[in-house]
Formats: sequence, structure tokens, C-alpha cells
Amino acid sequence: MKEHARAVIIGGGVIGCSIAYHLTERGWTDIVLVDKGELTSGSTFHSAGLVGQLRSSVTLTRMMMYSASLYTRLKDETGHDPGWHPVGSLRLASSPARLEDLRRQVAWAKTFGLPLESISIREAMDLFPLMTDEGLLGAIHLPTDGWTDPSGLTQALAIGARKRGASIHTGVRVLEIRTTNGRVSEVVTDNGTGPQTDG
Ligand SMILES: Cc1cc2nc3c(=O)[nH]c(=O)nc-3n(C[C@H](O)[C@H](O)[C@H](O)COP(=O)(O)OP(=O)(O)OC[C@H]3O[C@@H](n4cnc5c(N)ncnc54)[C@H](O)[C@@H]3O)c2cc1C
Repeated sequence: MKEHARAVIIGGGVIGCSIAYHLTERGWTDIVLVDKGELTSGSTFHSAGLVGQLRSSVTLTRMMMYSASLYTRLKDETGHDPGWHPVGSLRLASSPARLEDLRRQVAWAKTFGLPLESISIREAMDLFPLMTDEGLLGAIHLPTDGWTDPSGLTQALAIGARKRGASIHTGVRVLEIRTTNGRVSEVVTDNGTGPQTDG
């Protein structure tokens, strides 16, 4: 393993691999990622992989919209299929208060340019025939939402990061993070001391 790196990423779940992918995209090629097990062996492995873009904050919504667009291009870019399925999502209302909330969500989505629309109960049933319409008062549909394979996505991000120079090591556990003058200077692993960082 390298003895020096500009940044050390601890954990090879979807977040760590995404950080590696995006740092290398910005030109940080001198980075090391370590995971104590295999890539995706943490909670990423258990995720359902549902991707709903409309969130309660502007930042989160923009991040989810960016994610959906990233998943669309990752296969061409990395050669690895992240298993992205833009099958759309349904949100249902079975009370007047929830129906009002859904209508507010449609208006909120328009400010982001998200194609969230109110649909009839019949249309909702056509989209998802397995559910019952008992008690259903209304529904909204966002066709650009979807689900992804969390492991496939993580591997695609890792491949993209590696292609741009990131070093990825599995089976390496971080034991200690050492600091100098308040900045991280060294990462101690069960594979020895190192890498040192730029802080
Ligand atoms: C049942 C379930 C369903 C979910 N469904 C969804 C969903 O539908 N949509 C959604 O967006 N999110 C969902 N999530 C949440 C999502 O899975 C997590 O937000 C995401 O996986 C977190 O990724 P992570 O990389 O931060 O963590 P992890 O995947 O847990 O990665 C952390 C990594 O760090 C490594 N590590 C830990 N300690 C050390 C150490 N000392 N040294 C080296 N490596 C170390 C671990 O081995 C692990 O691989 C779900 C989660 C669960 C459990």
C-alpha cells in the first residue's frame, strides 16, 4: 500500500466509493480507499436501492437529481452496469391531509423541473396492479425515480475512481487516525502504519 496520499477514505460502501469517484473526477488522483472487508460488505449490501428524488430540502433534492443522472451515464463511462432502473415511483394518499400534502409536493417538484404529476386512481392501479384501491383518495407519479443495484453501483463508482488513479485496498482495517496540529497526518491500519496524508 502507498505510504503517502492526499486523502485516505475509510470504508468502501457506496458513500466511500462515491467520494473516491468524485474526488478523482476533480483531479484528486492521489487517494487511497481502504475497507476492512470487501467493497459493499457494510450496510450498502442490505440497501433496497430505492431512489426517490423529491426530498424535503433543496440540497437533498438536487443531490438526488444529480444521482439519477449519474446512474444513467455510469455504465458507458465505467463499463460496469450500476443496475439503474428508472421505473418511476408512486406516492399514495388515503386521507384528505395526505392528499393535500401530495398536492403540495407536486407544486414543490415543479420548482426543480421534476416531472411529478397527480394521476387518477385508475392510472395508479394500472401502474401497480398488485395494490388495492380500497381507501385510496389520490396518487402522484414521478416517472424518473427508480431503483438501483447498490452493489453494482458501488462497483461502478470504484471502477471509475480506479481508472482515474485511486488505489483501493480491501481487507485492510483502520485502527487509528493520528493528527498533527489538529490535522489528520497518519492512518494506522492492521496492514501497518500509513498512508500519511497531506492533512
Ligand atoms: C435494510 C436497508 C435498506 C435500505 N434501503 C435504502 C434505500 O432503499 N435507498 C437508500 O438510498 N438507502 C437505503 N438504505 C441506506 C443505505 O444502505 C446507506 O445509507 C448506505 O449504504 C450507507 O453507505 P456507507 O458507504 O456510508 O456505509 P457502508 O455501506 O456501511 O460502508 C461502510 C464501510 O466501512 C467499512 N469499515 C467500517 N469500519 C472500518 C474500519 N475501521 N476500517 C476499514 N473499513 C471500515 C465497512 O466494512 C463498510 O464496508 C438502506 C439500508 C438498509 C440497512
